Amino acid sequence: MQWIEIDGSKGEGGGQILRSGLSLSMITGKAVRFTHIRAGRSKPGIMRQHLTAILAAQQICAAQVSGATLNSTELTFIPGQIKSGDYQFDLGGAGSCALVLQTLLPALWSANGESRVRLSGGTHNPMAPSISFLQQVWLPLMAKMGAKASLALHRYGFYPAGGGEVEVTVYPVKQWQALHIPQRGKLVDISAQALIADVPYSVAVRELNIVKQQLKAEQSKLNSIDASSAKCSGNALLVKLQFEHLAELFCAIGTKGKAAAKVALEACDEAQAYLKSTAVVGEYLADQLLLPMAIAGNGSFTTPAITDHISTNALVINQFFDCCIDIQSINQVAEIHIR
Ligand code: ATP
Repeated sequence: MQWIEIDGSKGEGGGQILRSGLSLSMITGKAVRFTHIRAGRSKPGIMRQHLTAILAAQQICAAQVSGATLNSTELTFIPGQIKSGDYQFDLGGAGSCALVLQTLLPALWSANGESRVRLSGGTHNPMAPSISFLQQVWLPLMAKMGAKASLALHRYGFYPAGGGEVEVTVYPVKQWQALHIPQRGKLVDISAQALIADVPYSVAVRELNIVKQQLKAEQSKLNSIDASSAKCSGNALLVKLQFEHLAELFCAIGTKGKAAAKVALEACDEAQAYLKSTAVVGEYLADQLLLPMAIAGNGSFTTPAITDHISTNALVINQFFDCCIDIQSINQVAEIHIR
């Protein structure tokens, strides 16, 4: 058997190397041996979120797996055939549902029937895309590539209790389409949502007022959302910039002792930095577009900078596909072409 060897200490050295490797293994049918998993992190090895992704991937493609235990730094994954169907996975805490979904969706889009996945865990976490980001930013671009999924958020999940619930219906892709995003197009709308679960309403009001001042957003586009069905208290502020050709969403997480103004300024600063840049795609979205564009075999966009997540993901993808991922810095932006 031909093995792909993935060294998890390369580049960024985080969980994304593992997740991308799993997605690509499922899609290409190539067996993978991972070593030095998350060697770049202070607590290396497989954490709960990664383990859920591995076990879910195993179930979806009947893979033979060894090393799938917490803290393990090595894993072998021999994929079988991808099966569409009804699946349910539990992150057992506040691990990111979005990161697990992004691991599984490429495989389920390659399946020969419709699938439904129910996941419980965190829906709005720091250092990960939120479920709102998947719904409003990433999935609409996937749909333009012919990869459709409808994602419902049934319950919000915040750190530490998690317990958020999401459900996604995944439609098999008939034909992947190239996606080229040379421009954002016109700015159509600025909106914000303050999610509050067992947090005073005044927190939402203060956060939204700052968005109004900083970004000149209209009052009618600012909403507080009652997230009190969540299993623990939580707060997140989502600032959305809707352009003609794509949307970007900036999420700041509120925590005990963190001033509402600080939460709001975090999201506004990110939004303002993006507005100032001439790049089309924000830095997080950029690394999340590489894998689907490589599957489609064609795509392009610009992004403010070549992050470690971008270059590391490109390295992993190149181990599976012959495609060329060309990344160049030109006039203060990074231009990425996949062909
Ligand atoms: P670890 O860093 O502990 O290994 P991990 O497995 O959760 O953790 P990374 O390898 O760092 O994660 O990958 C994180 C992913 O989350 C990247 O794809 C990154 O673009 C994305 N991400 C991080 N923050 C945001 C954000 N605010 N909005 C959207 N996406 C984000």
